[in-house]
Amino acid sequence: MPEPQVMTVTGPLRTDALGVVDAHDHLFLRTPALPGDEFDDLERSTAEALEGRASGIGTIVDMTPIGLGRRPDLLRAVSERTGIPIVAATGYHRDAHYPDGHWVHDAAVETLAERIVRDLAIGMHPTDWDDPDAAPDAARAGAIKAGASYHRASESERRRLEACAIGSLRGGVAILVHTEVGTFGHEIVDILTGHGVEPHRIILAHLDRNPDAELHAEIAARGVYLEYDTMGRTKYRPDSELVDLIERVAAAGHLDRLLLGQDIGRRSMLRAYGGGPGMRYLMERFVPRVRRRIGDDATDAILVTNPARAFALEPAA
Ligand SMILES: [Zn+2]
Repeated sequence: MPEPQVMTVTGPLRTDALGVVDAHDHLFLRTPALPGDEFDDLERSTAEALEGRASGIGTIVDMTPIGLGRRPDLLRAVSERTGIPIVAATGYHRDAHYPDGHWVHDAAVETLAERIVRDLAIGMHPTDWDDPDAAPDAARAGAIKAGASYHRASESERRRLEACAIGSLRGGVAILVHTEVGTFGHEIVDILTGHGVEPHRIILAHLDRNPDAELHAEIAARGVYLEYDTMGRTKYRPDSELVDLIERVAAAGHLDRLLLGQDIGRRSMLRAYGGGPGMRYLMERFVPRVRRRIGDDATDAILVTNPARAFALEPAA
């Protein structure tokens, strides 16, 4: 049995070398849904990543998908400059992140899936498929991003979820799905498993926007990973409620399904761009509280063991 590996922007890496994994973050992003909050500066994003590493993060999973200013060349540069392994994403977000007329709205499932598979197998498209003939970047994607809307998925989002399922099966990688305010979780799992994806390859993001421990335990019991990433979003609720949620879901028997990310998706949240709380917040402010509540072993399972399993490459179906 070969050692399990993940695909990083600089090549495959054994999962036992990942350390603490920030399971959902962003180093470069641009979306019409957040005008004025884009970030795409190599120097500043490098500085932010270094702060993250100094705080204790070992590996960053960059979940910027196709069409949101994904920059494989700059992700490689940050990784090479800092030594931080970075897992990059292919796949597609929910409708709101694409302007009217963008090709993803009307593309056929086959086209959507083909682009994912090429990003995974050969190398990411350098400019998000605006010119299908452009030469691929050297960096391959190592995970798939998908998205649904608030309590629903549009026809277009359903096509993209199907394409992500095909990509996951053919590429042997996990799919992380954006949930809007933590809704539509069971239904997203139904859609993806209906297209042949096994539950342990599905990660639901932002479920903590709806901190309902009973619901989360139900979803985790299906074998799906739950990724929490709203620590420091004080406008939503205090971090204490997220610590309570982790404790309750772990006590219900689902510690092995929990992942943590920071999902810094706005320029105004990055210290290197003049904002806050920045990429050091998870390890510096939040994780010590989790350690006090559930202990070091359980905390290390969430930060190290679970993501190594969740993002490991598997043989293509
Ligand atoms: Zn995100």
